[in-house]
Amino acid sequence: LMDIKSDLARHRVKVGGVTLGQDLLIMAGHCTIDPKNPNLFYETAAAVKEAGAHAIRGGVWKPRTNPYAFQGDNKSLDILMEGSRRTGLPVDTEVMDEEQLKLALAAGVQVLQIGARNALNYSLLRQVGAAIAGKPVAVLLKRGMHTGTLNEFISAAEYIVNFGNPNVILCPRGTQPGLDGYRNHPDESITPLLKERTWAPVVVDPSHSVGKAHYVPACALAAVAYGADGLCIEAHVEPSRGLGDDPKQAVTPAVLAGLIKDAKALHAA
Ligand code: PEP
Ligand code: MN
Repeated sequence: LMDIKSDLARHRVKVGGVTLGQDLLIMAGHCTIDPKNPNLFYETAAAVKEAGAHAIRGGVWKPRTNPYAFQGDNKSLDILMEGSRRTGLPVDTEVMDEEQLKLALAAGVQVLQIGARNALNYSLLRQVGAAIAGKPVAVLLKRGMHTGTLNEFISAAEYIVNFGNPNVILCPRGTQPGLDGYRNHPDESITPLLKERTWAPVVVDPSHSVGKAHYVPACALAAVAYGADGLCIEAHVEPSRGLGDDPKQAVTPAVLAGLIKDAKALHAA
């Protein structure tokens, strides 16, 4: 681990015109893209850009706890990329297997998300590392909800960077067991520990940490206070019409705009 750390000491990951470690990166958008309602995603993409986001997130394929819940749809990949074209911003989406990885890369997805449920899926981590080698693509690696040690999290990142592309971003997103009240146990407080031990920038996901839209701004600001290099936030123009986590977790563009203003002020302070 240490060899890689020293090799990468001066590496800077860039997403959406933002150099992580310099300016605060804001990624925002739907938990889940509704393939039957592309305009909702386009409206959200435009609104989060207007609110100050540098990259758009949108779930195409979803790792749902409930096997009977909507699992995503290949059609949403076209919607995601159309959102990228319309806004001129890069997009982030989760891939769970090699087929999705290939489709996402072929479509031009710039940030591949590895979800909490696959955080220690070493075959997937190796496939992603190999697939992005030499490409201008970054990976947002979530911390597994059961991931105990920092070493497990950092080692997972090294599975990817070992193939030669160092653009890996670590993403604390809350761990189980959940507190009675929040969805997960918010873990933005590990940010300084990660930054002491790795080359990698840290982008915190307050949405999955707390799991309710009205707690998201406080968690986001806590993350910035702990030294996060960016935030990945679920946002939706009309959360109640969303899929997946959006009805509960997504903030509106107005809330996002206020949060970004406060987060930037704190980051600059
Ligand atoms: C998501 O980003 O919508 C998601 C499923 O996140 P996680 O893997 O952190 O649960
Ligand atoms: Mn989600």
